[in-house]
This record gives sequence, structure tokens and C-alpha cells, in this order.
Amino acid sequence: MSVRGGPGARVTGDGTLDEHIIIIGAGHGGVQAATSLREEGYQGALTLVSADPELPYHKPPLSKTFLKAQDAAPQILKAQMFYDAQNIALRLGSTVASIDPTARTLTLEDGATLAWSKLLLATGARPRRLAVPGSELDGVFYLRECADARLLRERTAAAGDVVVIGGGFIGLEVAATMAMSGKRVTVVEAADRLLGRAVSAPVSSHMRAYHEGLGIRVLTRTGVRQISGQDGDQDGGVRAVVTDAGEAIPADAVLVGIGAEPDTRLAEAAGILCDNGIRVDAACRTSAPGIFAIGDCVSFPHQASGRVLRLESVQNATDQARCAAKAMLGRPADFDAVAWFWSDQGERKLQMAGLAFDIDRQVLSGDLDAGAFAVFLFSGERLVALETVNRPGEHMLGRRMLAAGFSPTDAQIAEGPAALKAALAAHGMSP
Ligand SMILES: Cc1cc2nc3c(=O)[nH]c(=O)nc-3n(C[C@H](O)[C@H](O)[C@H](O)COP(=O)(O)OP(=O)(O)OC[C@H]3O[C@@H](n4cnc5c(N)ncnc54)[C@H](O)[C@@H]3O)c2cc1C
Repeated sequence: MSVRGGPGARVTGDGTLDEHIIIIGAGHGGVQAATSLREEGYQGALTLVSADPELPYHKPPLSKTFLKAQDAAPQILKAQMFYDAQNIALRLGSTVASIDPTARTLTLEDGATLAWSKLLLATGARPRRLAVPGSELDGVFYLRECADARLLRERTAAAGDVVVIGGGFIGLEVAATMAMSGKRVTVVEAADRLLGRAVSAPVSSHMRAYHEGLGIRVLTRTGVRQISGQDGDQDGGVRAVVTDAGEAIPADAVLVGIGAEPDTRLAEAAGILCDNGIRVDAACRTSAPGIFAIGDCVSFPHQASGRVLRLESVQNATDQARCAAKAMLGRPADFDAVAWFWSDQGERKLQMAGLAFDIDRQVLSGDLDAGAFAVFLFSGERLVALETVNRPGEHMLGRRMLAAGFSPTDAQIAEGPAALKAALAAHGMSP
């Protein structure tokens, strides 16, 4: 068996690799981890293995700006010269087939074997597949990677009718983009409201009204029975989405956005503990010594809520990457970042800070009709989350309040951002 290291790998007297950190997955988490390892002073060999052949890029624009112009290029995370200058070996278009936690090696699909001293799994998530007749028809799309977005963009260029299955973030972002480029769009959502798992009722109903204002037809409490092809059969291109009520909604293209599942395949095959994601502790350590994991693929102890959960956000992946870099180098690391997320849907910027568990009270501020407002979410007297629509300043303030453990009074909220800033400053945090 030939075992190779990355560039700069130090080989000890007995011929084994001394220090070689390998990161599997070059998405938001993997690239940040490589960056942070170098920032933390790690000088050993460092390899980033990516199944995706593209130079690593930002994923959020794929459902937004990238779809608007046929010639829009992916927004890269770092230029190639960054990886060169930092001596990070980037293996693009290279899939890890298996890992061996005992031998501390991994095998690529091309058969090559690499040895590692520490391993970081940053394998992300994969779109949940729709399991109804016709879901494999040509013209049914999923969206995760740049190649998916390119295909969706090309194939919807001439489409008149687009059906989006799933009224979550990705579905609604694509729906808004498509509607604003003149397509007839229908969103089909099984739950009783849009973004039901992610935002409070006021934000949910505001966004429904906004999307309807863009001309989008929104169907909630509606399931999909099947996707039918040309002439009603299951061959050829997609023709219609048939709801569980029996309505056939015309479709030249269908986007399925019904959530994502953590990519735990490598970890599970290697016997690493997985439970709604690769299970890690507060220092991003998995159940296997020397193996760490971050981002969309992990479930972790969320300290503020006291729950074990999984998050899908750029913030979570990059903050965990910083934490894992420290932990891999044997430094104190304790993941306790305030969770935050954004979603741009047409002219609406939704931002969420904190996680809305055990909510028993919500306080609104701002102007719902004008589409600029904030919803403060409380559990008892404690502020646990803040959702804003087109109020980025208040979102930032919310993140600082949550980090400081500061809960504003209703009067302070009613007085507005200036009063909140003053109250936060009085609490000892510079706003
Ligand atoms: C269209 C879209 C829009 C989004 N919009 C937002 C947004 O507005 N705001 C926000 O906060 N978040 C958004 N997200 C979510 C955000 O992109 C993810 O939370 C983030 O990318 C997670 O980072 P990650 O590093 O954990 O995983 P990813 O970025 O998914 O990276 C994982 C990488 O691992 C690779 N990989 C997997 N298995 C292997 C293997 N065996 N060998 C080699 N490589 C492998 C994959 O190819 C992938 O490139 C969006 C996601 C999508 C898809």
C-alpha cells in the first residue's frame, strides 16, 4: 500500500507521517478550518479534499444572484493563490471513499491512500429527495452545489411555469428570483405555513404576503401526489405537479427544496457515532480519537438551549471550523457561538439570531406593513432569539444582546434601537 502525505508533510525517521491534517469537504466549514489552522500557527502538512471540482465558493448566492444572470460566476471563497501561499494542498474533484480511524488513513475513489495525524470531517449535507412517482423526471431539480445551480439556471431560462416544492428558505429564495424574472411560480408547502420550522408566525405570514405580492401562488397544507411527464406518463420532461388534492399545476421545471440530510456516510461506515449527524462534543471531537467534525454534517451540544442539535448555516460551519482548528491543535476550545442566519428573498432580508426554543412571548417592533420590523422572542423573561426583516442594524444588536445574555424590557424595545443600544451599553457591552 502506498501512503502519501500532502506537500510539506514531515516524515519521521521510521518513515511514517508525522503531522498531516486532512480536511474532507471544501465548503464553508472546510475552507475556514484550513484558514484557521494556518492562522493558529499550524505549520504541518494540510490537505483539503473536495468532491466538488470547482474552486471552493459561497453557497448562499446559488439560490439568489447566481440564478439571475446566465453568465454570473460562482463567488469563490478564496483565490487559488491563497491556498498556494498557505501551503494548503487542495484536491478538487476528489472524493474520499473510506476512512480508517485505526490505521489513520483514508482512501480516495481513485484508489490513492493518504495518511493523517488528525482528520476533520466537513462533508456538509445533501438535499432530501422527494419520493413520489415522477420525481426522477427530466426537469426536476435539487439545489446544493454550483453544478446544480448552473443546470437549474440553464433549464429555467426558457421556462414559463416553475413549481417549487417546499416553502423553506431555499425554495422561497428561488421562487422570488424566478418570479422577479417573469416566470409563473407556484410554491407547494405541506405544512400550514411557510418557513414553519424556522421563523415565528408574524414573519411567516409577512413573507407569504410578500411572495404573493410578487405574483407567486402559495399553497400551504398541500402535499404532492406525483409529478407527471409529457402526456401524463412518467417519461420525458416534466409537465405538471399533481397535488394531493388532485390539482395538476403546469410545470416546465420543478425545484424540490424539502430540506437536507447530513452527509454522515463516511463516518457511519467507519463506526463513528452518528445521531442526526456526526455526533461531536463542544470541541468538535467525534467518538473516534483524532477525528473532528463540523458544519451541516454534525449534531452538537448547543449550550444556550441545552439541546443536542444540528444547524445548517454559514455561521455555524465557520464558527465551528474556528473552534475545531483550536481543538485539533490541542488548545482550549468550547463552541458557544450565538447562532445566526440570513435569507434574502427578493427585496426582503430575513435575519435570525439565536434559536427560538420554548418561546412563550413575542414582542414586535417596527412597521410590518412597510416590511421593516423585528420580532423579539422570549422564554420567560429571557430573550432567546430575534428575527428581523429589512432591519440589519437590529439584527446585529440582537446578536450582541444574546452574546451578552442581555434581555431588554418591552419599554426599551418600544423605544427603538437607540434605547436598546443605550441599555446594552449600560449592561457593559459596547453596542
Ligand atoms: C442554495 C443554498 C443557499 C443557502 N443560503 C444560505 C444563506 O442564505 N445563509 C446561510 O447561512 N446559509 C445558507 N445555506 C447553507 C450553507 O451554505 C451551509 O450551511 C454551509 O455551506 C455549510 O457548510 P459545510 O462546510 O458544513 O458544508 P458544505 O458547504 O456543503 O460543504 C461540504 C462539502 O463536502 C464535500 N464532500 C462531501 N463528502 C465528501 C467526500 N466523501 N469526499 C470529498 N468531499 C466531500 C461536498 O462536495 C461539499 O462541497 C445555503 C445553502 C444552499 C445549498
